[in-house]
Amino acid sequence: MPASSAKHVAIIGAGPGGLTCAMILAHRGFRVTVLEREAQVGGRNAAIRLGPYTFDTGPTFLMLKDILDQVFHESGANSESLLEFKRLDPMYRLHFRDRHMDMSSDPAVMKSELTRCFPGSESAFERFFAREQRRFTFMLPCLQKSYHKASALVSREMRRALPHLALTRKLYDVMNGYFGDPELSLAFTFQSKYLGMSPWECPGVFAMIPYIEHAFGIYHTTGGLSRISDVMADVARRNGAEIRLNATVRRILAPNRVAEGVELESGEVIRADAVVINADFGHAMTTLFEPGLLRKYSPARVARKEYSCSTYMLYLGLDTCYTDSPHHAIAFAPEYRRQIDSITAGRMPDGSPSFYVRNASLTDPTLAPAGHSAVYVLVPAPNNRGSTDWSRTAPELRERVLDAIETRTPMKDIRRHIVMEKAITPADWQTDHHVYLGATFNLSHCISQMVYFRPRNRFEEVDRCYLVGGGTHPGSGLPTIYESGRIVANLLCRSQGVPFVSGNLVV
Ligand SMILES: Cc1cc2nc3c(=O)[nH]c(=O)nc-3n(C[C@H](O)[C@H](O)[C@H](O)COP(=O)(O)OP(=O)(O)OC[C@H]3O[C@@H](n4cnc5c(N)ncnc54)[C@H](O)[C@@H]3O)c2cc1C
Repeated sequence: MPASSAKHVAIIGAGPGGLTCAMILAHRGFRVTVLEREAQVGGRNAAIRLGPYTFDTGPTFLMLKDILDQVFHESGANSESLLEFKRLDPMYRLHFRDRHMDMSSDPAVMKSELTRCFPGSESAFERFFAREQRRFTFMLPCLQKSYHKASALVSREMRRALPHLALTRKLYDVMNGYFGDPELSLAFTFQSKYLGMSPWECPGVFAMIPYIEHAFGIYHTTGGLSRISDVMADVARRNGAEIRLNATVRRILAPNRVAEGVELESGEVIRADAVVINADFGHAMTTLFEPGLLRKYSPARVARKEYSCSTYMLYLGLDTCYTDSPHHAIAFAPEYRRQIDSITAGRMPDGSPSFYVRNASLTDPTLAPAGHSAVYVLVPAPNNRGSTDWSRTAPELRERVLDAIETRTPMKDIRRHIVMEKAITPADWQTDHHVYLGATFNLSHCISQMVYFRPRNRFEEVDRCYLVGGGTHPGSGLPTIYESGRIVANLLCRSQGVPFVSGNLVV
């Protein structure tokens, strides 16, 4: 596109979705302005710095690295030369009631660990792998399409995927069908928590997620996962995009339901040919449009949707590094099912909690001074539809979490080593991070809120307005969010007659 005729796209938010869209569109000749309310890029994928310690706010590992590589390639950049990736093996350690198992993406190593922990389950693992490989092969093209037209629901890809959708089955049923043993089934179903859902509620089709981990592995990036967002912003800028930090959008200007630009909190008006929303979906729908404009996504209707659970976070700078504690570990509460049900019902459970602890300094010395470590703890928690008073619950939960870590992991005396600390509660996700209901993994991924039924990448309510990020299609999680950015870039190119070559499909 000649610079003089370049279409101007305003992108609200420099999270992974907004940045993907920005770097691709800028590479294809669009004039791109990214408006980010915070002083740094990345959103939930930004870094948190406490003195000399660096943490990731949210994402701690990358799946389907291939998709990231592709979006860099489509932006004229090479991810391998800009980021240092480390494939993690073991991927993570799972702590059951009285034993632990290290999960590997090397099938031979995985099978020998199964022999040690769950003898006789090796053939079940093989059946899981073979069946879920087929499901994934048929599902991936469906996730890479846009659903702005109903005809996408009967596309060739969808028709081929139909027998693999497991529409009537939940994730736990699918996995228990392979493994039988309740503890072993947990090892292949806890991944529903990546979507903020219970294994007993999560649709069976998400059996893809454990398959993806085992088939393609999971990755750390040196400096933390936030480096991905930093580098995406660099690529976008190099391609000509302008990224404005501390620039909060107050309103999307959409007279006659056509997006014409945005107004900032400062009063400045930025005109654009299209507006892309990367801000949290529920937050954007309830705050960024003129009251009364939206119908399908009016505040009342947005409030009636299903949302993911939330998380209670601890970021701990330690004056030691536990070299016997793996990079990622997950401990299941003794009463895992009861606790999950309680969280789904909106109540923070009592008792020793389930938790995830990340000891990334083991692999990555850049995150803390020598001999120290930056430890990240995530505890599943109800979203703010429940009535938890976090000012009272947080201090008490902190003690329960630290007790559980000291009892169940090699971090026996962690309290003694804490020199810096920060917590984020579900209430903080909502007030400080502008996440609707504090539902950290966005709209729930129930079947009634997937593909055509999820907020579409080309926004249904306002012309020239597009949605990217975890609250839209294809869903929460870095690879799907990158796909949302790529789908929108492709839709915009198509609407402007800009030729492009892309690894994914557009209806
Ligand atoms: C605790 C946690 C752990 C996670 N772990 C993983 C993981 O390990 N792997 C994985 O793949 N995924 C993970 N995820 C899920 C997902 O990858 C991240 O949440 C991801 O950062 C979401 O990206 P996004 O593009 O949807 O938007 P966000 O990261 O939410 O970014 C949106 C941006 O919009 C900005 N914004 C909002 N309103 C305005 C406004 N009015 N004006 C200007 N800017 C605005 C925000 O400041 C923010 O920067 C995790 C999420 C959480 C919360």
